[in-house]
Amino acid sequence: MQRRFLSCGFSLLTVGLTVLLMGSFTQIAVAQTVYKGGKAPAREGKNPLRVIMIGAHPDDAEVKGGGTAALWAEQGAEVMLVAVTNGDAGHQSQGGGALARRRAAECRRSAEILGVSWRTLDFHDGEVVPSLRAREAVMRVIRQWQADIVISHRTNDYHPDHRYAGQLAQDVAYMCAVPNLCPDTPRLEKNPVFMYFADRFQKPNAFTVDVAVDVDRVMDKKWASIDAMDSQMYEWLPWVAGYLDEVPEDKAARFNWLKQWRGPRMLGWTEKSRDILIQRYGKERGEKVKFAEIFELCEYGRGWAGENLWSLFPK
Ligand SMILES: [Zn+2]
Repeated sequence: MQRRFLSCGFSLLTVGLTVLLMGSFTQIAVAQTVYKGGKAPAREGKNPLRVIMIGAHPDDAEVKGGGTAALWAEQGAEVMLVAVTNGDAGHQSQGGGALARRRAAECRRSAEILGVSWRTLDFHDGEVVPSLRAREAVMRVIRQWQADIVISHRTNDYHPDHRYAGQLAQDVAYMCAVPNLCPDTPRLEKNPVFMYFADRFQKPNAFTVDVAVDVDRVMDKKWASIDAMDSQMYEWLPWVAGYLDEVPEDKAARFNWLKQWRGPRMLGWTEKSRDILIQRYGKERGEKVKFAEIFELCEYGRGWAGENLWSLFPK
């Protein structure tokens, strides 16, 4: 009798612990890394091309590079979008772990739509600094992904998290190939090409368009990926800008509102890059592009010369 009781008690304990552990593993898997197809993609030789876009917050990479990411993914590249922070300060009435989990779920949905992997490095929102710890976290994620191309912010952006995420990406260009740094994660034999997302800031120098990508074919995916971020697009960003009361209640109406609101800045990227679009796609198509995404080459990292850089990007 006593033995039976003990055995039953042990089983209950085991089940209880298993449920607890599964719960926490599930939470970590949702909150930190989501691989397209459910597992980390294997690398065979040089293919497929591997791209990592490092935004400061869970929405930056999607807004600035989501169309290009979707095109790359459709053409066979492995793309990971990274948010350095978990976004836990980006709301007027929510915050902390609950908001971080909400935003991770939004990004997971967004990544599914774009056909890419997603990860957060889980730093607190508003607290990114170019520390050694953060530099190592960025170096590891780039190495683990075995990135050929890294895209992040420029360092004269308005938001300190953007500036320092960009700084961190710059700081690991070259260091990614140094074996004695973060020796727990194998070095990259080839330094990636480092690029910047577009921004509107002029001082000390304005963004230069080095690559322009026609994303019209995947704009439905891009809009849907942004629409998936309710907490930002329909709550926090309109609130902080002072027009929360303009956001329609109806889902279809608010999606249209989102396009009216976010579209003009994206159209600005197209106008800024019209000459390059015409060079890259020819006069007929280049003149017709409605939405483009644009990127600047960073002087650090592998670097690149001339038109060959364009061949790395989806067309
Ligand atoms: Zn941001």
